[in-house]
Amino acid sequence: MTIAIQGIGVNSSISTAIGKVLMLSRGSIQAEPGMVPASQIDAEVERFFHAVQIAANQLVEIRKQIPADTPPDILEFIDTHLLMLQDKAISEAPAQTIRSEGCSAEWALQLRRDQLLRVFEDMEDAYLRTRKDDLDHVVNRIMTILQGEKRSDPVEIAGHIIVSEDLTPADTIMLHHRGACGFITDFGSPMSHTAILAASLGIPAIVGAHGATTRLHSGERVVVDALNGTVLAECSRDSIRFFEKRLHKELERRNALQTLRDAPALTRDGTHIELQANIELPDDVQAVLDEGGHGIGLYRTEFLYMNRDQLPTEEEHYQAYLQVIEGMDGRPVTIRTLDLGADKQCEHQPEPSACINPALGLRAIRLCLKETSIFRVQIRAILRASAHGPVRLMIPMLTNLWEARQARDIIREERQKLAEQQIAMGADLPVGAMIETPAAALTAESFAQMFDFLSIGTNDLIQYTLAVDRADDSVNHLYDPLHPAVLLLIQQVLEAGSRCGKPVAMCGEMAGNPGYTPLLLGMGLKILSMHPASLPEVKQLIRKLDLGQVKPRLKQLLRHPDAEDFAQAIRDLANL
Ligand code: PEP
Ligand code: MG
Repeated sequence: MTIAIQGIGVNSSISTAIGKVLMLSRGSIQAEPGMVPASQIDAEVERFFHAVQIAANQLVEIRKQIPADTPPDILEFIDTHLLMLQDKAISEAPAQTIRSEGCSAEWALQLRRDQLLRVFEDMEDAYLRTRKDDLDHVVNRIMTILQGEKRSDPVEIAGHIIVSEDLTPADTIMLHHRGACGFITDFGSPMSHTAILAASLGIPAIVGAHGATTRLHSGERVVVDALNGTVLAECSRDSIRFFEKRLHKELERRNALQTLRDAPALTRDGTHIELQANIELPDDVQAVLDEGGHGIGLYRTEFLYMNRDQLPTEEEHYQAYLQVIEGMDGRPVTIRTLDLGADKQCEHQPEPSACINPALGLRAIRLCLKETSIFRVQIRAILRASAHGPVRLMIPMLTNLWEARQARDIIREERQKLAEQQIAMGADLPVGAMIETPAAALTAESFAQMFDFLSIGTNDLIQYTLAVDRADDSVNHLYDPLHPAVLLLIQQVLEAGSRCGKPVAMCGEMAGNPGYTPLLLGMGLKILSMHPASLPEVKQLIRKLDLGQVKPRLKQLLRHPDAEDFAQAIRDLANL
């Protein structure tokens, strides 16, 4: 009998995946048994000690960031982990096993963990038994560092559907590169960075599928039906055939839409809409060109910092930007400065998030203005890259004008230094502000005066306006792009831009959802940036619209944005 697990489908041009499950356990990271030649034993032991040291450094860093008024049990939690790391049972015993068994550091660590877990499980004391979770955390930390060094591990991922409690954006990228064809997570919401990434990579995904990791098992064949947010296991042949046909149709439809690639994005009554793309990696440029993007409206550069042990150098930034600029061949490229923090963390994050509300913490420009040396490296690389094409720089998560001033001062200073060193730069580097906090939206006019353009980041703007964590599936039903407060803020930003004569773009997920295209164009947006796979469908809709008819009807609707049938009436604008 078919088993169905309900979750939330991630909006993407392909909503169907059929494949075998590969379970990624977040509870305990498992190692594969592995042997090491005698000549490499010393190096393997060194590798193990190095990983323990990095794990300890990470914890010390996290501890430093914990505010003084934090409840003592949180501090205790970190201290316990630090003590465990110093305990010879963890920090030295695996090294002896590497020597005695000739095995890999990961396997030695796993053997040690299993031994210790058995000891914990046999304990009478309930409190001490709970300490096995701490042991798991500590071992996972070392294991992640060790496995991060060996990215070529041989587990077959291609063609599999990954099932996990949750995935980080960094995992998602790595798994995509290794050929995963679908994602299912127990937790997470469709607005999380992980889900956005999956959609932008064109991977069918279901998040918030509670119980998926316990009810599914590795190797079984499942169907991801992201359209209905359902995972199906033990399907009949007929159901599999049905989904195979649906997948085939989706692929055909996507190919058919590609015939629109070079068609202009013009409404029926002649308004041109600039259709740009959001990218995460230089390799995404090909998809932008394939789908007919007019430029890059959002290059999320934080992915340069992930899945690696050290911060990227100025040269690495520069080379990545160059690849994008050259690929886009004269079309504009908007590079967003680092937006780490909240649900995007990386291994060597300068300020790892140990706070209770990371989305309200040291994220994006806040982090950059605290760690200015990291910010300056990126700014220099962007300035240098601007010598090679129409580059624009964009700053995320602004709430205060002084943050904008400080960021602009740093850009000016780095420009000055590069000029003194006679290093080539573009004559002009337009700088834009992302409007993604209610504070920035309400004071958009001041930002519009100071910046060359504005770009509305609806993913965060909705999260912060409605006080709904975009990564938490339990409040996903409250995440409403059509909430009257959200629409009012968007309207205000558009008006501020138009009063100051500055262009306003939108680069949040709302921009790539064809259900909102008539609304957004009717409100006056003319620049939309979205993941490449959404471009053809949005263009198709634009070409059907007559703004002369949409605008007056929308004006009527916006008088009662809390009307019960408002969402349906907005969808119906597409049929005018
Ligand atoms: C947004 O917040 O709308 C946005 C585009 O930025 P990100 O999703 O990367 O936070
Ligand atoms: Mg954002």
